[in-house]
Amino acid sequence: MRTSKYLLATLKENPADADLISQKLMIRAGLVRKLSSGLFTWLPLGLRVLRKVEAIIREEMNAIDGLEILMPNVQPAELWQESGRWDAYGKELLRIQDRHDRPFVFGPTHEEVVTDVARNELRSYKQLPLCVYQIQTKFRDEIRPRFGIMRAREFIMKDAYSFHADYDSLKKTYDDMYQAYTNIFTRLGLNFRAVEADTGSIGGSGSHEFQVIADSGEDALVFSDSSDYAANIEKASAYVSDKRNVATEEKKLVATPNKKTIQDVCEFLNLPEDRSVKVLLVKGKKHPIIALILRGDHTVNEIKAEHHPLIDSPLSFVETTDFPTGFLGPIDFKEKNIHVIADRDAAILANFCCGANQTDYHFTGVNWDRDAHFDEVYDLRNVVEGDKSPDGQGHLIIKRGIEVGHIFQLGDKYSSAMKANVLDENGKSIVMQMGCYGIGVSRIVAAAIEQHYDDYGILWPAAMAPFQVALVPMNYHKSHRVREFTEKLYQDLQAANIEVLLDDRRERPGILFADMDLIGIPHRIVIGENGIDNGTVEYKARTEKEAKHVSVSDVLKILS
Ligand code: ATP
Ligand code: MG
Repeated sequence: MRTSKYLLATLKENPADADLISQKLMIRAGLVRKLSSGLFTWLPLGLRVLRKVEAIIREEMNAIDGLEILMPNVQPAELWQESGRWDAYGKELLRIQDRHDRPFVFGPTHEEVVTDVARNELRSYKQLPLCVYQIQTKFRDEIRPRFGIMRAREFIMKDAYSFHADYDSLKKTYDDMYQAYTNIFTRLGLNFRAVEADTGSIGGSGSHEFQVIADSGEDALVFSDSSDYAANIEKASAYVSDKRNVATEEKKLVATPNKKTIQDVCEFLNLPEDRSVKVLLVKGKKHPIIALILRGDHTVNEIKAEHHPLIDSPLSFVETTDFPTGFLGPIDFKEKNIHVIADRDAAILANFCCGANQTDYHFTGVNWDRDAHFDEVYDLRNVVEGDKSPDGQGHLIIKRGIEVGHIFQLGDKYSSAMKANVLDENGKSIVMQMGCYGIGVSRIVAAAIEQHYDDYGILWPAAMAPFQVALVPMNYHKSHRVREFTEKLYQDLQAANIEVLLDDRRERPGILFADMDLIGIPHRIVIGENGIDNGTVEYKARTEKEAKHVSVSDVLKILS
């Protein structure tokens, strides 16, 4: 490819409305352009990168017997009503109508459509397992589209779905998929980790997210410093002893005028925050109020709380005038008919401090059973750095990550709601087991840049680079010799199957160099009059500082 025939849409200045490095560089390097909030056009250079990512994904999906299909973007509402998601999905779902006022959605994901395909095409266990996938545009009306391609409204996803006669078969495909994802992200040259993920309302333990490690990531990831334990913070738990500390103190009422926060109270009473408890009043499904009790230095994990069968989801806090805000304690909640759920760490405290349910008063020396009461114990909190790993090995550290993939054992959530059955060996009708497996194809491009850039621009991992070699001749338009030499090398490189971008623009060398650095082409060859005499060119890897003079035959060797 020649830049003179290409749309090299590079910009000198960073866009004003960009927060992330990847967002700035994708615009400046001319990979994408923003059309409107969360909507982007992929320009030729960006599309080349996207296609490389897609090609690797296709190869790895095909290698585990995934069959490529293509489902419609626009899906009839009836399928969503059948699965129950027409009501459950909320405002991220773009609902549209055709000319006959019939309701449709623009697909944010394709479980319903693929389950419909499966129930129509599959009759017998003999046809299972079956795994299909597609690479396609999704639309989600994200509440906060941001970070450019990273959280767009329209984006490209690889979504795969598998169908099984039993759980063991689902588990086998899930493990194959885990390995395929590992291959994909390794081949893409990304620093990533697979972490245990929350399974939402479906439950079970079968879900992993593939996370690209980056400080700008939206997700917090929890790792053990001495074992393989790795989980999204939404799901992570810490090791807790099941032994309660020994009660030695007596309960004492103390005045704490205007001390409403844990920090203020503990400072005032000269107590460590981990010997206090706090109370959160939330809405229950059966009870008007549920009290959540956490250690003073801990925070509630909303996702975990929402999984509790008695707690209303989404978690909503209750305002009541029955108790003085800032002075709550699990002292007489039983009489008030409030269901009390204590976090595991709060439940093993002894001699702790809590509100006295009277304005300006707290209790110290409080002990469970004797002075205070809970109805049940549940894991309610966010882990913090330094907590013990749940497997008992080492301590937890927290890093940030960008979710680029998610694999999920769905079980029969969709297949039973939509009656996707096959006949088993005995001719009995059984509901199929399902798995689903997503990759944020377009998000990968941004995530890769978050990990691979320098002051001059993008540093593409080889597998994602739009071109492998930038060929930059000096005085191409003035020197006949340079032109001839360049054209010959251009042909030779192409003949060797190397993707080369010949920069033949009538621009100053500084501009050519800056653009090739900005768009992140891994190898650069500069051709000048001087080198031609002794058959050398100037070679520089994008990651190196200094260029070196090498013979043309050596350059071909380096590159192939
Ligand atoms: P997130 O927590 O980031 O919203 P999700 O759980 O909604 O992700 P999935 O439904 O599992 O995502 O979708 C599969 C993949 O699609 C995700 O792992 C992510 O890489 C990508 N993805 C999801 N939402 C977006 C978006 N708005 N823009 C770009 N990629 C996205
Ligand atoms: Mg989402």
